[in-house]
Amino acid sequence: MQDDFETRSSGSLDPADRRPAAGGRASPVGGDEGAALLSPPSGGWHAVSRDDALARLASSSAGLAAAEAGRRLELVGPNALPQAPGRSLVAIVLGQLRSPLIYLLLAAATVALVLAEYDDAGFIFLVLTINTAVGAAQEWRAETNTAALRSAIATIVRVVRPEGVRRLDSARLVPGDVVLLEGGDRVPADIRILDSTEARADESSLTGESLPVDKAAGAALAIETPLAERLTMLFAGSMLQGGRVRGLVVSTGAGTELGAIAGALGTPAAPPPLTRRLDRFTRLLGLASLGLVGVVILLQLALGAPLEETFFVAIALAVSVIPEGLPVAVTIALSIATRRMAQRNVIVRHLPAVEGLGACTVVATDKTGTLTMNQLTARRLWLPDHGFVDIEGVGFDTGGAIHKNGTGLGSEASFAAQALARSAALCNDADFDPVGGADGRSGDTVDLAFLVLAVKAGLDAGTLRKQARRIADRPFSAERRYAASLHDHGDGHVVHIKGAAEVVLPLCSGVDQGSVLTLAEGMASRGYRVLAVAAKRLDPDRAQLSHPLDGELAGLTLLGLAGFIDPLRPEAKAAVAECRRAGVAVKMITGDHAATALAIARELGIADGPQDVVTGREIAAAGTGLAARIDAASVFARVEPAHKVRIVEALQQAGHIVAMTGDGVNDAPALHRADLGVAMGRDGTDAARDAADLVLTDDNFASVVAGIDEGRAAYANIRKVIYLSVSTGAAEALMFLLALASGLPLPLTAVQLLWLNLVTNGGQHAALAAEASEPGLLARPPRSPREPLIDALLIRETLLSGAIIGLVSTAVFGYLIGHGWSEFDARNTLLFLMVAFENVHVFNCRSETRSAFRIPFSANWPLIVAVFAAQAVHVGAAFTPGLSELLEMRPLPVAEWLMLIPIALSVLLVMEADKALRSVRERRRSVSRATFLRSLA
Ligand code: ADP
Ligand code: MG
Repeated sequence: MQDDFETRSSGSLDPADRRPAAGGRASPVGGDEGAALLSPPSGGWHAVSRDDALARLASSSAGLAAAEAGRRLELVGPNALPQAPGRSLVAIVLGQLRSPLIYLLLAAATVALVLAEYDDAGFIFLVLTINTAVGAAQEWRAETNTAALRSAIATIVRVVRPEGVRRLDSARLVPGDVVLLEGGDRVPADIRILDSTEARADESSLTGESLPVDKAAGAALAIETPLAERLTMLFAGSMLQGGRVRGLVVSTGAGTELGAIAGALGTPAAPPPLTRRLDRFTRLLGLASLGLVGVVILLQLALGAPLEETFFVAIALAVSVIPEGLPVAVTIALSIATRRMAQRNVIVRHLPAVEGLGACTVVATDKTGTLTMNQLTARRLWLPDHGFVDIEGVGFDTGGAIHKNGTGLGSEASFAAQALARSAALCNDADFDPVGGADGRSGDTVDLAFLVLAVKAGLDAGTLRKQARRIADRPFSAERRYAASLHDHGDGHVVHIKGAAEVVLPLCSGVDQGSVLTLAEGMASRGYRVLAVAAKRLDPDRAQLSHPLDGELAGLTLLGLAGFIDPLRPEAKAAVAECRRAGVAVKMITGDHAATALAIARELGIADGPQDVVTGREIAAAGTGLAARIDAASVFARVEPAHKVRIVEALQQAGHIVAMTGDGVNDAPALHRADLGVAMGRDGTDAARDAADLVLTDDNFASVVAGIDEGRAAYANIRKVIYLSVSTGAAEALMFLLALASGLPLPLTAVQLLWLNLVTNGGQHAALAAEASEPGLLARPPRSPREPLIDALLIRETLLSGAIIGLVSTAVFGYLIGHGWSEFDARNTLLFLMVAFENVHVFNCRSETRSAFRIPFSANWPLIVAVFAAQAVHVGAAFTPGLSELLEMRPLPVAEWLMLIPIALSVLLVMEADKALRSVRERRRSVSRATFLRSLA
């Protein structure tokens, strides 16, 4: 570690260091010469010293100028691995062909060919082609959709430029760039460490080593040092677990060690459990319908029908009854949901999360940044000899006076405020360039807020940091709750420390700790986040901060308390209320003080009083009954990341489906453990994002609620598609059974059956999967995770509607035959009726509870289009010579066609009546429940 301080002494903030790279050549890297310059040294980058590495890449510790970096980007290309190719179109099409259904159709086509029924064979091939094309197109869309989403989360890195630290998409990194990394950052490229503090990297994805490895800048290593022991290097694809690194990018993209093994990556994810369950369900239904088909064949043969006709009808029937479009429709529903969620700032990383969100019963959420704006502003200081002073201004706006009750501070008080601000600006890892806009700000919000305070106090952090060089430091960690750093002020060494009041105050002397703690508590209960700032002069020969800090640092001088306000997100309160209404409990988790947490939780309507608050200490003390206490509490304060896992587990034990938000590297285990890990996309660490199922691109709590809404909608839509496809299949099967059992001729020919499915199935199913979220979806309690997908309600609706369609259609067919119609005409009319039936029935399926008349067309225009398109294609076929003969169809007189409409509406009528009946019963039940509850009161 000694080595680090040497690098620092050549310090980045030293103006002499900001010279143009490599002696001021205008274009140190270009053309062939550039390519040579960017190639690795023969022994590998670990085998050269830091200075040699910098020299080879014509860089310096002040980084590359933007123009030079741009030139190199042109030369070496973006820092990205060649994308693991998604499934190709060919693979998707072949996948479509691998289904029992296709085998059936192929068999039928072959038999037709053998029997020289060329028209039928041709038609079957047509059905086959259309089926495959539609299925493949839909899967292709879902595939490209997920690929697009995957790339939606860019990794942002802090890059050192001569003009200051800038935030940059990691894809734009080039060899020679100098980057700043801290705990939780994904290592964006292969990096030679220039200097570091407490750096630890998780390299398990590269070396298989599961424990984090300590890393540090150091001398050149032996050439033969294995990858796992190159401690002076960081490798793309690994994760910085803790500490801080300033490093030189040595190779990017395919040139990295990861690039060398990338061929082994990119294994496709397993399909989500819902899809797998449905696959099984479809197979089961397939078997059942094959049984049915068997019965039809036996009946047919018993009636003395010719074998050939029976064979074709049996195959056609199997094709129509097996809900083969179901898995694809589910994929579409999930893919549409992921797209809709993305529009509402929720990126889905694992598909099952879509389904899980709908069942979520508890959201355990971060306070800072999720419920609040993460725009911390120092608004109030307490200075030991001067009492409270206030600070004007909000956010990163540096115009704001420091005053005491409206009048400016005297020189003494000003000086005291400056001393506090100076310490906090030195013990600080953020970068704040007042003119750099959003790109000129980076680092922790507390640190940034302190830098803004410094400007308001009339200090310049850049100058300060140059005057008082940092020689050692202990960065902030959520476990320690303080940060400390040691500086050489020229006239001696000073340690500056800032952190939670109850951690820092016990180290201070010369103050009444009890009364200051009470003051801090008072500020906290008014919603301020309170930090104490202190400093102490040390021996000039002291160049290190040793463990443990406490003993060595006793006797600090307290410089004061700083109170920060982080405004609530304007939409947070409504979103919390919405969660409540949806039966989803909201619990707030924070590292902040219990009083601060409670003040904010009260304002949001999350908690009422101290009884709702559990502290990290209570969780650590862990008695029996902790689980119950956690389940009952709604605020967790002074929580360390390690406690979050216990919170998740306790809630899960209480039977909850837990969504947990997190942003830090230490949150990863809890995000893994939760049923739904939710990471912050903007201010969260890469480590948290990698562990999460969902990423909020705006870090906003309201987006979680939007996600729950869409998750429930997706689940509902999947049920709708199942309802539609199973009930129409059942109707067709029933129609054939009834007709044959009552001695009628075959109601439809094989070709007609195939046609019926062709015109009605694909479009309507896909459109139904896109149905907009029903209003009131968020007013219902979450579904029980134990509830089966195919529940009593779905079975009831499917059987009822299937029975109506089957019965009515057979009755109509029987009536027509009975009244002397030819089989040709009776089938023709029946085919028109069946298409109409399926068109009408789609409207039943749009909601399981609401009347079809209450759902506006605008909630799903594609469905309306699909319905009319099906009618148009069908009627058009009757007028198309060739096709009409093949289908044994002819145009229906308008009067007859109009008569079919009321008949087809019968299924709407019955299902509407059923919905009305159920809702009356439901209302009566809830009234009697309310009366009962009132009688108890
Ligand atoms: P939260 O969960 O609300 O984000 P943190 O874990 O970030 O809370 O912070 C916990 C406590 O640690 C804070 O209340 C504060 O006292 C202290 N703290 C936070 N950030 C810093 C920092 N950058 N430097 C020193 N102390 C900090
Ligand atoms: Mg925090």
